[in-house]
This record gives sequence, C-alpha cells and structure tokens, in this order.
Amino acid sequence: MTIAQETAELLTSLGVSKESFTGGDLPAKSPITGEKIADVRSVSPAEAGRIIEQADAAFRAWRLVPAPRRGELVRLLGEELRAHKAELGRLVSIEAGKIPSEGLGEVQEMIDICDFAVGLSRQLYGLTIATERPGHRMMETWHPLGVVGVISAFNFPVAVWSWNAALALVCGNAIVWKPSEKTPLTALACNAILKRAMARFGDAPEGLAQLLIGDRAVGEALVDHPKVALVSATGSTRMGRDVGPRLAKRFARAILELGGNNAGIVCPSADLDMALRAIAFGAMGTAGQRCTTLRRLFVHESIYDALVQRLRKAYESVSVGNPLTTNALVGPLIDEAAFRGMEKAIERARAEGGKVTGGSRIDTGDAAAFYVRPALVEMPDQTGPVTEETFAPILYVMKYSDFDEVLAKHNAVGAGLSSSIFTLDMREAERFLSADGSDCGIANVNIGTSGAEIGGAFGGEKETGGGRESGSDAWKAYMRRATNTVNYSKALPLAQGVSFDI
Ligand code: NAD
Repeated sequence: MTIAQETAELLTSLGVSKESFTGGDLPAKSPITGEKIADVRSVSPAEAGRIIEQADAAFRAWRLVPAPRRGELVRLLGEELRAHKAELGRLVSIEAGKIPSEGLGEVQEMIDICDFAVGLSRQLYGLTIATERPGHRMMETWHPLGVVGVISAFNFPVAVWSWNAALALVCGNAIVWKPSEKTPLTALACNAILKRAMARFGDAPEGLAQLLIGDRAVGEALVDHPKVALVSATGSTRMGRDVGPRLAKRFARAILELGGNNAGIVCPSADLDMALRAIAFGAMGTAGQRCTTLRRLFVHESIYDALVQRLRKAYESVSVGNPLTTNALVGPLIDEAAFRGMEKAIERARAEGGKVTGGSRIDTGDAAAFYVRPALVEMPDQTGPVTEETFAPILYVMKYSDFDEVLAKHNAVGAGLSSSIFTLDMREAERFLSADGSDCGIANVNIGTSGAEIGGAFGGEKETGGGRESGSDAWKAYMRRATNTVNYSKALPLAQGVSFDI
C-alpha cells in the first residue's frame, strides 16, 4: 500500500469525507518520502469571513450553556480521541514525519488536555473581594470571551489545536482554526473527531468549531476579523511580529507562542548519564523540530571533554530514517527549505570557528525527502547562528568556567522559551530558577528542555511572545473578567470617602 492509499484509509476511518481531501487546490505532502498524498480544498479570505460570522452566532448560544455541560462536550472529545488514538497518531507521523511514539504522544497530549479541561469546567472560579464600603459586596466573575482564532504550526499539528480548543470550549467560546498549510490532513481529522463528539453531545450549536484550510492570507483574514476576540498563534517569531501588532491595532487579545532558542547548562556535579540522555532527546528528538528543542549547550570546562566525546558518539550512532518502516529515532525534516536553512546555519557556524560533527543529508532514495544526520557543533563562543533559532537538529556546544557568566550568556538571546540545568548542587539549581536565573517561561532542573506536561502553563518570554496556554491558570486568557460591586445597604457611600451630595 502506498502512503497516499494508507492516508486515504486513515482519513476515511476517522470520518473525513473523500471530497475534502481529493481534487482540491492545496497539495498535502508527506515528508517521509516527499510525495503528494492528497489534494485539499482551501478557503478564500472572503469565505473565511463568512465562516467566522457563523462561529460568532454559535458563540452567542454556547456562552449560555452552563460550563459543566460544556465540559461534557470536551469529555466526549477525549473519549473519541482515546478511541482513535492509533489512527490519528499514525496520520501525524505520515504528515509531520514524527516517529510513531511521538505521533502517539501528541495524541496522548490531546487526551490529557481534554481531561484537564473537563475538570476545569467546574472550576472557573472567581473571587469575593473585601470591600471598603459597608453593606456592599465585591466580586470577580469570568465570562465567555467570543470567537477564539487558533493559528498553528506544522510541528505540533494536532496538540496545539487541542490545548486551545479544549480550554476555549469549556470557557464558552467558539473556535476557528487555521492550521499550518503543511499539515492540513491532521486538521481535517481533528475536525471530524470533534464533529463526532458534537453529534454525541446532541445540542451543540452549528458552527461552534470551524476549520480554515489555507495559507498566510487566510491566517491574516482571521487575525483582522473584528468578530475574533482572541487569536492564539503558534509559529515563528517572524509570524508573531506580523500578527501581534495587527491584533493590537484593533485591541484584540493575543496569545503568541513563537520561536525558541533553548539552552542547557551542564555543571561540574551533573549526573552525566542522565544529562546525556536528556540532551540527546532534547536536541535530536523530532529531528530538532520542536519549539522546545535544545539548541545551545554550555558545559563546564572540567567535564567538557568527557561529555562532548560521549555526545559525539551518540550523534554518530543515532538512527535516522523512515519512521514508518524502520525503528529510527530521528525522522525527516519537514521540507527542502528546512534542509537549506540547516545547511546555511552550519556554513555560518564553520565560518565562526565551529567544529562540526554530522549535519549531512542522508540519501534514502527519495529525492524529495530530506533526512539529515543531526549536527553537533563545538563553538568557540555564542556568535552568529548560535543566537538564532534554526528549525533543524543543530546543537551548538560551548565551554564555560564561571557560573555568573554562563547565566548571562544563557539569557543573552532574543527568544525565552525553555531552559534547563544539570547539577546536583542546590545553590546552582535554585539560582537558575530564581529572579536572576533563567529568563525563560520554562526552567527545568535535571530534565531536558523539551517534552512539557499539560498541567503547567506553556509559553515563553521575550521574542517567544509572552503567551501562555495549556495548564495552570492559562484558561483566564480565554475569558473576560468582570468586577461586580453590589450595594445591599440603604446608603450610597462613595469609595475613597468622596462626597457628592446633590
Ligand atoms: P510559521 O510561522 O511559518 O507558520 C505558523 C502558522 O502561521 C502557519 O499556520 C502559517 O500559515 C501562519 N502564518 C504565517 N504568517 C502569518 C501571518 N502573517 N498572519 C497569519 N498567519 C500567518 O511556523 P512553522 O514553520 O509552521 O513552525 C515552526 C515555528 O513555530 C518555529 O519557530 C517554532 O519554534 C514555532 N513553534 C512555537 C511553539 C510555541 O509554543 N512557542 C510551538 C510550536 C512551534
């Protein structure tokens, strides 16, 4: 069976109609072989506008449904995802090139966030606040916000949507999703799975969850539409620089989840066996195409040679290949542009004095597939491409001697997503997590930079955009807050003792 045939079977079993993936204008490809596997129909910006209007009408009904009942829809979505985990995970592997355990892991993350959101649907707590006026009560309440636009990147084609969709739905919002143009099929599948859950739910308003297949222009239509109250946009910092100001211009809310340039520090006391495994997964896993991928590594001079020698071995021996037919740990890059970007970064690193292990293309016989041996680049300093995110498996390794200096270097890049320290020294660990430690949204001790759980708020600072989604109190971004004061006395005292007697 060809990949295209298998894809058609998977899509059909997930409930996607044949018309939506045949005969369309947008070719869908698998990075595993580079071949075209479907033709999806994209929407025009004008059609997008009409779809957003439908979502707005659905929002007006959905916001009146009690939150625990809204949670029931997300519970059913979680059930459907459990039932279809294998097929959807396989489709993620086909479309994004992930190895099977990572494809399935992404679907598990969807199930986890559904469970979280179901509990949350009974916990959208407000506050009662002490008031300075007698006979008054002051409180804070949370209300549904409106239409939530979701823009997602190719590298987490389904999980990012679910983080947003599960929270947005229990918070009483409608959702309109613009997936990456590189991964439209998994989006069609998610939409079909949610439709099944909606059919079982019974009376969810028509148009509550919408899909906009298309390119950047469709994304822009979503960003600029006045009925979209919040846009949660995941992708490159370049995209965020465009989307952020457009949303600000019309005072819409933004959750920006942008690029990372994540670093790890390996201290003299580190458990090197543990560090090695964490570094290998963080830097080479998902072929370096996670926003949380480890890209910079600072190693103390006392252990540098020992660790780098072991890392080199790991880089030379890691299995790279077709994730559908082999047990490889590293699959393909998404496309040729990603490979060219990697080539360019390595060339620049060499010009800056970098010593490169790996980094070359591996021929699998498919001219349109781009497999690479992950690159380990020993750098004399943090210069040139080291300060930027290249979305490919390149790990820059640098030596350090002083802890204060390495902390400063760690923070001296534009992005601020994820970070980790490997140490058994409590002072170093606590300092790393403190106010003058790592400046990232995620800071870990003795764990790599990637592979976050859904229970915590996910996101980063600086050029990563400052947004938070998923766990903790990230739900608050999907609701509007009202402060209410009720006077049950017979007087009308004014705050701050102001008198205004007429
Ligand atoms: P990308 O920026 O090229 O595209 C992301 C999405 O934005 C796509 O759906 C695209 O169509 C849309 N888009 C692009 N320009 C737009 C515009 N001007 N207006 C509206 N929509 C627009 O990113 P990519 O190559 O798909 O993904 C890789 C990038 O995403 C990396 O930088 C990675 O670090 C980042 N990422 C971040 C997170 C996070 O949570 N911080 C998670 C995953 C990926």
